[in-house]
Amino acid sequence: MIQGVGFRPFVYRIAIRHGLKGWVQNTNENVSIRISGDQLNIESFLYSLKTEAPPAANIEEILTEEIKDMKFSDFQILKSDNVSDDITEISPDIAVCGECLQDIQCKGSRLDYSFVNCTNCGPRFTIIKDLPYDRAKTTMDPFPMCPGCRQEYESIPDRRFHAQPTACADCGPVYELYEGQELISTDIKTIVECISVCIESGGIIALKGLGGMHLACDAFNETAIARLREIKNREGKPLAIMFRDLETARLYAEVNTTEETSMLSWRRPIVLLKMKSPADKPLLAKKLNSGLNLLGIMLPYMPFHYQLFRLLKTPAMVLTSGNFSSEPIIIDNTEALEKFSFLTDTVLLHNRDIYNRTDDSVVRIMAGKERVFRRSRSYVPSPVRMGSETEGIIAFGAELSNCFCVGKGRKAFLSQHIGDLKGLETTLFYEQTLERFIRLFRVKASLLAVDMRLDYVSTRTAAGFGKLPVISIQHHHAHIASCMAENKLDETVIGVAFDGTGFGDDGNTWGSEFFVCDLAAYSRITHLEYLPLPGGDSASEEPWRMAVSWLYKVFGKEFTGMDLPVLHQSNPENISMLIGMMDRKINCPLTAGAGRMFDAVASILGLCQVAAYPAQGPMLLESLVQPACTEKYKWSSARSICLDETLKGIIDDIRLGVKNSIIATKFHNTITSIIFETVNGIRFSGGISKVVLSGGVFQNKYLLEGAETLLRKNNFNVFSQSSVPANDGGIALGQMAIAAKRRKMKCV
Ligand SMILES: [Zn+2]
Ligand SMILES: [Zn+2]
Repeated sequence: MIQGVGFRPFVYRIAIRHGLKGWVQNTNENVSIRISGDQLNIESFLYSLKTEAPPAANIEEILTEEIKDMKFSDFQILKSDNVSDDITEISPDIAVCGECLQDIQCKGSRLDYSFVNCTNCGPRFTIIKDLPYDRAKTTMDPFPMCPGCRQEYESIPDRRFHAQPTACADCGPVYELYEGQELISTDIKTIVECISVCIESGGIIALKGLGGMHLACDAFNETAIARLREIKNREGKPLAIMFRDLETARLYAEVNTTEETSMLSWRRPIVLLKMKSPADKPLLAKKLNSGLNLLGIMLPYMPFHYQLFRLLKTPAMVLTSGNFSSEPIIIDNTEALEKFSFLTDTVLLHNRDIYNRTDDSVVRIMAGKERVFRRSRSYVPSPVRMGSETEGIIAFGAELSNCFCVGKGRKAFLSQHIGDLKGLETTLFYEQTLERFIRLFRVKASLLAVDMRLDYVSTRTAAGFGKLPVISIQHHHAHIASCMAENKLDETVIGVAFDGTGFGDDGNTWGSEFFVCDLAAYSRITHLEYLPLPGGDSASEEPWRMAVSWLYKVFGKEFTGMDLPVLHQSNPENISMLIGMMDRKINCPLTAGAGRMFDAVASILGLCQVAAYPAQGPMLLESLVQPACTEKYKWSSARSICLDETLKGIIDDIRLGVKNSIIATKFHNTITSIIFETVNGIRFSGGISKVVLSGGVFQNKYLLEGAETLLRKNNFNVFSQSSVPANDGGIALGQMAIAAKRRKMKCV
């Protein structure tokens, strides 16, 4: 990563410092440097190159060779050159840097100027329309630089040398405050005052950010949050909050050093943290995360966030994507004003267009590593380096939490989080972004990788690409391949894919797969026993259906007479109807989804009957875990893995009055032991000791850490996902890796 992160000026500065002559130039392939000077200085230059690079720069490789008979009179930065279509990378957006924050405190044209940026920080991907990265190809094009900005832009030693989005109060974008549809002010002091008064008095703001609109309100105000949920049409989904600073965030959440690094990184993601309730401080609103022990916390990353917190008395505000239900985040000013002006108290827009929409990214630290759950702002479009040639491959991704992936050289460019391909708006976002990625990265499509399900929007989109070869890929094989690609594995491994749902090649729903596989092919060794899923897809949002299915399988009709929370919370007529459906096999596809078993346990314990958001039941169940408890339930294994004994154990515990937290922990421990024992059995018969864990269930911290620890203790080499989501957001990368491998083996 050397484009748009201030790399050339950095090279210039260190070359001058070490008394070297020559030049530096960005090409589409890399950055080229010619230097001449004495050997010692050249060596210290190379050392500085590696150790002092700008924060967002990432050097993959430095190749050096000696060139004879070249003479230079000074050191220069040469103009960008379109060398070939093998473009280099586009920088993701970078949180405002410390120096720019100081600039807005000083006098001059940047005093209190909210769109300050430099080569080390500011918008990038969200404003880029095309390459090479120049102002004319960004949404900053309509803002001609003033003489002052121009001078800095052209001055090599300046921090704003060639900072494409550079701007100041004299020439750059401005915020615009609206009440209703009426423009109230463009004066930043007035705006900050109005917004902070509004937030403190329980109001709701729609404000335009880096990658789209946000909705904001006081994180301590229950009424405001309830209203915000109504506007978004999102009842229970946890809401992200932005804290004034790390010190304040620490009062409300446990933050270890790895978590701290993620929070303070230039990517500024939402970090999922374990909640704390300080005894001597006002408590955060309960409606933020209704019953979960996790909080999604981020720190300020735009200059405006800092400006606002300077005045704002409340130390934390809800800052959630400005969208409705599952639609994409709104980016257009006209649309934002139309949709939000009558729902919120104030709308704050700015006149710098957002070209590429991004949501805030979400990460969680598990087993000491940052794990990306939602990969978007400030992570995209960083590529994944692949083991084989990916040129021309387009991987269309899954149906839910969709991301797609395009291949260029040996790089895989994953799109930002698109969302569930259900509604029209999201589908349009998907199609538009796909077209943009193909153009931006100059991809000439030659091979298409899709899910096996023909009725997916993603699969149907591929059909619109004309007569190109298409590879259909099994969902869980893609999960494992995604993790393998991320970890640079290209060999036979034991793959454990645990998730909620995915189409299997026997026509059933899979989701608890134990594979022996490589990138090209897999064999399914075993899985959890199939259970009917009365109601099909809708059952995934209604955990009680899975509970009834499991109880009916193990106890027959007798279960309806038991004293169980799920039965008290469900309508007996609905339960009879479900039993009828199962007896007559009407709309009861078979599922082996591990996520469904977590749903079922959450339902049986009375935690969640109808989910307000995906994986609510499993997340509530994980919230209860007591790591001190090491007990587990029985289970058995024949052709598949049977959990009948597990359910009997759970019911016995309920009868004995064992706490939900203990039952939840014992269930987690049972799943961990199933993973370990099964993998161990596979190693015993095949001698493979590399284990790859993927699928949404491994976003469960207790489960992932438990499984990794147990496997490592027994000399397994364990791999899990980190920079690419383990959920369906990572599927496209797996599809890409499988397609590349099969093409290489000439199986296409
Ligand atoms: Zn800066
Ligand atoms: Zn200016």
